[in-house]
Amino acid sequence: MQAMVLNRVGGPLVWTDLPDRRPGPGQIRVKVSACGVCRTDLHVLDGELPNPQFPIIPGHEIVGRIDALGAGVSDLKIGERVGVPWLGHTCGVCPYCVEHRENLCDHPLFTGFTRDGGFATATVADARFAFPLSEVGDDVALAPLLCAGLIGWRSLAMAGAGKTLGIYGFGAAGHIVAQVARWQGRSVFAFTRPGDLATQAFARSLGAVWAGGSDEAPPELLDAAIIYATDGALVPTALKAVRKGGRVVCAGIHMSDIPEFPYASLWEEREIVSVANLTRQDGLDFLKLAPEIGIVTKTTTYRLKDANQALSDLRAGRFEGAAVLVP
Ligand SMILES: [Zn+2]
Ligand SMILES: [Zn+2]
Repeated sequence: MQAMVLNRVGGPLVWTDLPDRRPGPGQIRVKVSACGVCRTDLHVLDGELPNPQFPIIPGHEIVGRIDALGAGVSDLKIGERVGVPWLGHTCGVCPYCVEHRENLCDHPLFTGFTRDGGFATATVADARFAFPLSEVGDDVALAPLLCAGLIGWRSLAMAGAGKTLGIYGFGAAGHIVAQVARWQGRSVFAFTRPGDLATQAFARSLGAVWAGGSDEAPPELLDAAIIYATDGALVPTALKAVRKGGRVVCAGIHMSDIPEFPYASLWEEREIVSVANLTRQDGLDFLKLAPEIGIVTKTTTYRLKDANQALSDLRAGRFEGAAVLVP
């Protein structure tokens, strides 16, 4: 197999020939057909997440077909198309796992961070954490659903039932969540980098009722806002954009520090919450609904060998939607 391997903080990822891996008990081997590039991969590259492991193969939006089964795997078949997400393993016995909050597991493994991921021609995954995908939809279009879609789905649920929703950072997750929110009958207000008129137009094309810079106030106070951007200064900004009792959801795995802000911005029962990871139930719920919602992902395809280019383009905001690597 070949992979783009990250050997140290800061990279670059290096094209590497590796021995083929065999799936252990309870595992599957997946021939990767597409792997999305996520903001979290940049955090891994930049050493912004705790306890990194090197060398590591990043990538946690994997779509592929099973080409080998480990002992004891009976509910998946050779040739079946599956998706492998960020949550790669949980312990099953910690208080969070027992309470059905496995996204907060005390001893998890994360695909592409603490176990090897999908920037490769093949990957080995825990069978219990792979989602069977139907034959509907092409591999590249489905890949961003595996994290941007799933985290988006969870953050949307955390935002509550409000009808007006702000989205700060209109990238891979934002453009999927906007479609889900609209399908649910909500009105989406999209906030982009100031002056990013192209992304604002992109947001309107996906049904946003308003789009502007994150330095602008929305035309009305919102029921909730979700922040996908990594700038902690957006937290007090978003608080000012939500009504009394409104909620601000921080959906990123890493943000810069949140600056000091007046208590009056939080007063009147406004809330700030964060979203961490996903549960398998999130994945089952979302992937079942996705075809019904008719989500159309906007993707830019790169060859696996060009993963470094994809990452730098993501950092610079050089494409709309999501980047996807194809071996
Ligand atoms: Zn656990
Ligand atoms: Zn991700």
